[in-house]
Amino acid sequence: MMNQIKIGAFISERRKAKGWTQSQLAEKLEITDKAVSKWETGRSMPDLSLFMPLCTLLDVTLNELFAGECIAEEKLKEKADEVLMDVITNWLGHDKWESKESDTTPENVLEVENVSKLYETENNSVLAVNDVSFQIPHGSFVGIMGASGSGKTTLLNLIATIDKPTNGTIRISGQNIVDIPDEAAAEFRRRHLGFVFQEYNLLETLTIYENIALALTIKEVSKERIRPTIQSLSEKLDISAILDKFPYEVSGGQRQRCACARAIVVNPDIILADEPTGALDSHSSQMLLSTMQSINEQLGATILMVTHDAFSASYANRILFLRDGVIFTEILKGQDFRKVFFEKILDVLTMMGGGQTDVC
Ligand code: ADP
Ligand code: MG
Repeated sequence: MMNQIKIGAFISERRKAKGWTQSQLAEKLEITDKAVSKWETGRSMPDLSLFMPLCTLLDVTLNELFAGECIAEEKLKEKADEVLMDVITNWLGHDKWESKESDTTPENVLEVENVSKLYETENNSVLAVNDVSFQIPHGSFVGIMGASGSGKTTLLNLIATIDKPTNGTIRISGQNIVDIPDEAAAEFRRRHLGFVFQEYNLLETLTIYENIALALTIKEVSKERIRPTIQSLSEKLDISAILDKFPYEVSGGQRQRCACARAIVVNPDIILADEPTGALDSHSSQMLLSTMQSINEQLGATILMVTHDAFSASYANRILFLRDGVIFTEILKGQDFRKVFFEKILDVLTMMGGGQTDVC
């Protein structure tokens, strides 16, 4: 298992090798001195969103950080697997990681085939989604971009079983969800999907803890496992201190990180996010996006995120661009740095006309 004391000593050793004081390291990470001191004495672990910046600063790999030691080249692969398994089991509090890689699991989490949605009102009809097809393999972080009214929310709602398409097929983990009856749809959402929507946020009458626990209860996770699971996850997402508060008592950024915790804690097939940073300031947005990135990269969660904002989109590794209900084009991050990818996104938006980066 992960040894917090060993990891703490390792952080301390690497920090000193850089010639920094605890305060200097804290300053670089924009956190308190106390947090660094707590890590170094093994009393706490860094917030998930800080793992990558910390590794970069200390010149170590993520695996080395979790192992609490430098890893020699030849032992690297073996050690890396071991350490990552520890992280995953520790974080989710599972006795055994329930691997999604079984013979019966299809390669794609999501398959959208020739999907259309026609809204008909008294005096007009809108083809909000027009014959859209795409696939999302396991472990992707996909962004959907497009101007206001391009059909992003409609498409996400169809995938979320909240709305039904006029035509086409949508398969999630191999199951066609299009003809699923309403009651079964609710059950399907609880068991297979995670949501980080602005409007499907936390339940106001429950505390943050109860909101997250509810997701686990619905999944029939045993009572004894709920508290430790939530505790370890909250530490990673830096929300432990607010677990007993009600959603209205905490900031927008904290609410969204809690929504993320609720989404990931049940180990869903896919996390659906609609403008998750829409109501957040830039610092909170950045925190949330790094959290989502870690959930994707560290835990292999599959994420589909709708956004009109190029900065948010640059955290994804593939972007689909919607225009008038049609996929106009798509781009992949590949080996690009986020900044380069961000520029490419802006180029596509300009090419599509308008270059809307701040229009809701
Ligand atoms: P986006 O999320 O990209 O801003 P939406 O999916 O919300 O776009 O909307 C796409 C189009 O469908 C818009 O023209 C919108 O007016 C229309 N639309 C969305 N929801 C409804 C609805 N419930 N009834 C009628 N038209 C709708
Ligand atoms: Mg929308």
